[in-house]
Amino acid sequence: MIQLTRYKKNFEQNGITQADQEKLLNSRVIVMGAGGLGSGVIMNLAALGVGQIKIIDGDIVEESNLNRQIIHKYKNIGRAKVISAKDWVQEFNPDIRVELDKIKINELNYFNIIQGYDIIIDCFDSYESKYMLNEIIIRHKKILIHGAAQGFYGQVTTIIPDKTGCLECVMQKPKQIKEAMYASLSPVVNTIAALQAQEALKIITGAGTPLLNKLLVFDGTTSEFKMLNYAKNPACPACQINNKY
Ligand SMILES: [Zn+2]
Repeated sequence: MIQLTRYKKNFEQNGITQADQEKLLNSRVIVMGAGGLGSGVIMNLAALGVGQIKIIDGDIVEESNLNRQIIHKYKNIGRAKVISAKDWVQEFNPDIRVELDKIKINELNYFNIIQGYDIIIDCFDSYESKYMLNEIIIRHKKILIHGAAQGFYGQVTTIIPDKTGCLECVMQKPKQIKEAMYASLSPVVNTIAALQAQEALKIITGAGTPLLNKLLVFDGTTSEFKMLNYAKNPACPACQINNKY
């Protein structure tokens, strides 16, 4: 039986009950990517008390990551990001079970990785991976919390297949994805990451209103948020993926 003392401030006056906290402690979330967004998402999930976090990333920590990827310590340069992130979580909150896989997911290897998890948080830094993940969650009816950040800009939305539009409904997939370097500033990327973790909190507990069919866009240059409504596009190829088989 886990002591709830460290979570008391989660539910004392925030419309979140002790039963909700137990839901958090019994929940399982996958974080796809332990870079900039992944750092902030994992740290916030660990603070909230999300009981099981699975971290997927194929990279190692490099010195140039440390301007924004704040879960990784200087001493972990050269180590796998998944190990470095797990170390942080275990030191911060030993209640949390961490699973990890040092792997770059693709169409052939993802199936076993997502088994047993219903909530997937997109912390990838490439649109190629983001569009692939969007198709995976539609195919397997998982909830996707999308986030993206570049420079001073970022965005967040939550996608529930059959209920909301998807990433391709919001942003048509280009024939060829030009990958820029998706580096970002720490305050921006961690703002978006905190909002993604907040979406997970809402989905798991039912508190508040998640960003369904709403894309929240952040402009760090003016510190302004904009809410863009979207809907399922009847012509979206990704949304129709299950009809193809
Ligand atoms: Zn769609």
